[in-house]
Amino acid sequence: MSSRAASFGAGAQIVCDNLVRIFKSEGVEVVALQGLDLLVDQGEVVAIVGASGSGKSTLLNILSGLDVPSAGVARLAGQDLLAMSARDRVRYRRETVGFLFQQAMHNLLPYLSAAENIQLPMTLSGVARGERPQRAGELLELLGIPECADRLMHQLSGGQQQRVALGVALANRPEVLLADEPTGELDSESSEEVFAAIRAANAAYGTTVVLVTHDPLVSEQVQRTVGIRDGRTSSEVLRRTAIGEHGGEELIAEEYAVLDRAGRLQLPREFTEALDMRERVRLDLERDHIGVWPDQRENGGRENGRRDNGEPGTGERVGGGQ
Ligand code: ADP
Ligand code: MG
Repeated sequence: MSSRAASFGAGAQIVCDNLVRIFKSEGVEVVALQGLDLLVDQGEVVAIVGASGSGKSTLLNILSGLDVPSAGVARLAGQDLLAMSARDRVRYRRETVGFLFQQAMHNLLPYLSAAENIQLPMTLSGVARGERPQRAGELLELLGIPECADRLMHQLSGGQQQRVALGVALANRPEVLLADEPTGELDSESSEEVFAAIRAANAAYGTTVVLVTHDPLVSEQVQRTVGIRDGRTSSEVLRRTAIGEHGGEELIAEEYAVLDRAGRLQLPREFTEALDMRERVRLDLERDHIGVWPDQRENGGRENGRRDNGEPGTGERVGGGQ
């Protein structure tokens, strides 16, 4: 067990292992993350999706070093987020990760130009004075807004502001970019531009990207979408291109349920509701799959509680899958 625990996520850039975050306020406990597992490799672009309140922002705040988990493992670029000193944390937030919020202005100073905003984090991390303007110029170019260099924030559109904020987040060449609904307040054209800028940074610098989004336009364009439900990773959609039957390139999306290390699986709500599965189900191990059956004792009396052998009993199939 312990050797397995030690090797979980070896080689991954982001490792969350059984991550727990409990908020306590006025005697009430909210379990925002309840044993979340997540691995992300260097250079990946991963979208996180899930209902409001499922724990997405809590996860990103932990990875960004803003918040500290209650239990579990959280590691990013080899740094342990539960055991970090205050000093290391400042450095981590300045250099290892970049953060993009829904409100662009959260990261921007209104009385500085776009280029000056982007140079500010470089000042804090000691990039040579002579190098800063050139680096800022390069970023503005990459993000598609070179013409905005000398403009103040109120002279920019929402999409341009968010790309300047992206420049600020990338100024110190972080290993990982974390973005919490970065296109949540933008129209679809601006969203597309911001997302294109994020992808450009990923391609140019190999920056790993983890972004929370409700925007199908964004989540359908990444290789991997991770679904969070009730503070746990519950599903993943993996996308790849393949040559279709007519010879053209096709995007193939395959949906998976996440099996955690304790063997837990979240069945999609549509599936369990369709078969009226509640509380307990019966499992059959077959040669190449596992069958999941409604509990006949509970459902047998109802009109649709039919079994393929027509009998309402529960015992005869147990252990007998073949
Ligand atoms: P999401 O970003 O997916 O909408 P959050 O991570 O913000 O969800 O919140 C997850 C749960 O934790 C929610 O029930 C929320 O109310 C609770 N929560 C988040 N932050 C705090 C906090 N600072 N204090 C108390 N409860 C919190
Ligand atoms: Mg949120």
